[in-house]
Amino acid sequence: MIPYGRQDISREDIEAVTAVLASDFLTQGPVVPAFEAAIAQYCGAGHAVAVNSATSALHIACLALGVGPGDVVWTSPNTFVASANCALYCGAEVDFVDIDAVTWNMSVERLEAKLKQAQLDGRLPKVVIPVHLCGQSCDMAAIGALARTYGFKVIEDASHAIGADYEGVPVGNCAHSDIVVFSFHPVKIITTAEGGACTTNDPHLARQLQLLRSHGITRETDEMSHAPDGPWYYQQVTLGYNYRMTELHGALGLSQMVRLGPFVARRRSIARRYSDRFADIDVALPYEIPAANSSWHLYVIRVAAEHHRATFEAFRAAGLGVNLHYIPVPSQPYYRNLGHDPADYPEANAYYGEAISIPLYAGMTDDDVETVITTVRRVVASNGSSQ
Ligand SMILES: *Cc1c(COP(=O)(O)O)cnc(C)c1O
Repeated sequence: MIPYGRQDISREDIEAVTAVLASDFLTQGPVVPAFEAAIAQYCGAGHAVAVNSATSALHIACLALGVGPGDVVWTSPNTFVASANCALYCGAEVDFVDIDAVTWNMSVERLEAKLKQAQLDGRLPKVVIPVHLCGQSCDMAAIGALARTYGFKVIEDASHAIGADYEGVPVGNCAHSDIVVFSFHPVKIITTAEGGACTTNDPHLARQLQLLRSHGITRETDEMSHAPDGPWYYQQVTLGYNYRMTELHGALGLSQMVRLGPFVARRRSIARRYSDRFADIDVALPYEIPAANSSWHLYVIRVAAEHHRATFEAFRAAGLGVNLHYIPVPSQPYYRNLGHDPADYPEANAYYGEAISIPLYAGMTDDDVETVITTVRRVVASNGSSQ
């Protein structure tokens, strides 16, 4: 089976992790700060704060921006559940903005229309979380302009998009947002096994994120309510969590950062080959907006809805570990029980009825790529039937 995604671990990666095991610090040592510095430098961001998952990063990003009970957070229905759950963790409500039929990212037109209505209703969102599906940036200039007009904050869920760029600068530089979140799960662009990070240009937000990831505890005298009782002293100044990344995970991430460029280059070259070789078959292909270069976390094709299931099953039977990203979040039982109606998101539903993520990862051999191309062409030509 050729999986839809997988990690690429080198000898150097293994040596970096084992070196930490023999060092003085397994956690809270020098390696995670070095990984954070590498992320911040790559993205051109002022600060990076590494945590144990993108889910944790989304949670503390919401908290740092003041999300709490009575607030509303909007995201895309076409995402992993974590993009929405983070608001619920804070006691806030979630709502969704349907996707664009062409880019499959949050529709800016629908966002603007929904904001106009929300303003009339006095229910504007506190935070909007656009998701860079498959690694292609959303239209962040437009979303940033709406944020200024309507007074909401922006967290980019860039779990798919480290190594991508938008308007000529790396995703993660927060040019049109307050905080950007990355995931380092093994199927993503680079991995720390489990892990994630926030970037921001706001030193106050960066400090809040650091406190929230580590129990809300400080050892900085100027953050305390009174002078330290002694050299042992620390103070808990807010309610934080233990969301720290270990030195082992940080070492893997720091080592992987060295190959981020080649990883994304390889993904782009495979995606270009797919787009060339699928141009004449009966599938809808990813559309690339001129302002962005995708990191190509996923390569999604859309097939006719009536052949979707048969085509998916035929791919699996033929040894392609295809997958579907994503089941619309409002259709999940948990969200239905909160009163969400999946019928409110026709474009996300149409996408769900047609989308298939085919294998794409940096370690694919040229033979793997050729196998995927041949299989996709054959299966699509037969509409998934086995003759
Ligand atoms: C993977 C992913 C997450 C969660 O990442 P973890 O690091 O596994 O917590 C969140 N949002 C999106 C869009 C993702 O793809």
